[in-house]
Amino acid sequence: EPFYPGGQAAGCYDRGMRNTVSDDREGVVIAIDGPAGAGKSTVAQGLARRLGMGYLDTGAMYRALTLLALRKRLDLDDAAALSSMAADMELDAAYVPGKKPPYRVFMEGEDVTEEVRSREVSAHVSRVSSHPEVRAEMVRKQRAMAKGRNMVVEGRDVGTVVFPRAAVKFFVLYLTIVRMMVPLFLNLPAKQAAAVTMMAKAVERT
Ligand code: C5P
Repeated sequence: EPFYPGGQAAGCYDRGMRNTVSDDREGVVIAIDGPAGAGKSTVAQGLARRLGMGYLDTGAMYRALTLLALRKRLDLDDAAALSSMAADMELDAAYVPGKKPPYRVFMEGEDVTEEVRSREVSAHVSRVSSHPEVRAEMVRKQRAMAKGRNMVVEGRDVGTVVFPRAAVKFFVLYLTIVRMMVPLFLNLPAKQAAAVTMMAKAVERT
């Protein structure tokens, strides 16, 4: 039986069947920060599942904003236009059992989980998320989405800027590197082993 510490989401009931969530109640936030490619998502989703908590992928939020900006052909250097679009944009995250991956992202009601990972979005997301005005708006959204819920929140700045008072903070560094090192112990030919080590070093620098 999953354990929901104090109710999983707004309107959820704890095991005593009391509604534990009042509108202004602070939920428990677990913040997962760290460099790209470290394995944040694996850690965050694993924790959310084990603890019966919600999961918020802030990277996917920036990606959804970028997707909308590209669709609307906005100037990606126009911070004012981007942040006002961010303010109006309807974003949702939901766990849909049976879907792969089950953690889905909805923008204006549309499931964009796959599309936000496209090459085009990936190529432009860092430009969109570099504007302080955009970040301020997204931080507001992230706090609103976590309000009154127990959430594992993943992404840059989540343990410092977004939720400085998070109950638990993780900084994930090396999960991917450790994974990449595993083949080394399985007697790889020297050339491939060198390639793996080189990749691990590249990830370490990001
Ligand atoms: O984690 P993910 O690769 O999905 O993040 C996509 C991009 O969104 C990052 O490379 C970064 O530019 C931006 N981002 C951000 N702040 C966050 C999460 C993501 O600026 N909290």
